[in-house]
Amino acid sequence: MKKLDGQIRKCKLCRLWESRTHAVPGEGNIKDPEVVFVGEGPGKNEDLQGRPFVGSGGKLLDELISNAGLQREKVYITNIVKCRPPKNRKPKPDEVDTCTSNYLLLQLGLLHPKLVCALGATAMEYFTGETKMGENHGKVFRGEKMDIPVMPTYHPASIFHKRALKDVLQNDLKKIPELLKSLESKKIL
Ligand code: URA
Ligand code: SF4
Repeated sequence: MKKLDGQIRKCKLCRLWESRTHAVPGEGNIKDPEVVFVGEGPGKNEDLQGRPFVGSGGKLLDELISNAGLQREKVYITNIVKCRPPKNRKPKPDEVDTCTSNYLLLQLGLLHPKLVCALGATAMEYFTGETKMGENHGKVFRGEKMDIPVMPTYHPASIFHKRALKDVLQNDLKKIPELLKSLESKKIL
């Protein structure tokens, strides 16, 4: 994992390196995380600090994770792309392909969690091919991209636009401890 982090911090494989301050490989439990949370990509604060989910969305994520009976230090948190897209635009398909095939899939192979929680539409679409969050959040998908089950849910930042989603997101995250009990850990590489 450390070697991979070093490669990510120096990476110039797609155009997103040009506008970044710091690449954000991810952080958390690298030994045996039961859950890996995957967001879209670093925002402004993440780019400045080189750490994932440290802005207002990150504060909210910490609260939601802790209310779900999990601890931030015990999970691993990363993103689909590791460098901040200009003005927080959505990452482009070639950026997603390059970054995930070079890094995210290797990270998940090393971490082999029991569950991936995909935060937001970009991560959901990458892992499951689905585009409608309203129909798919809180469901468990298997076998699309890899051998680890994936549960998509809303991105924490979406709550700032639509307050009612907070309960929905919180309820999805609260399912995780039960899900973990029933899921088998499998290696993907
Ligand atoms: N939003 C994301 O998708 N990822 C972060 O790391 C921060 C905000
Ligand atoms: Fe490399 Fe990913 Fe950053 Fe693109 S987004 S430069 S592939 S680390």
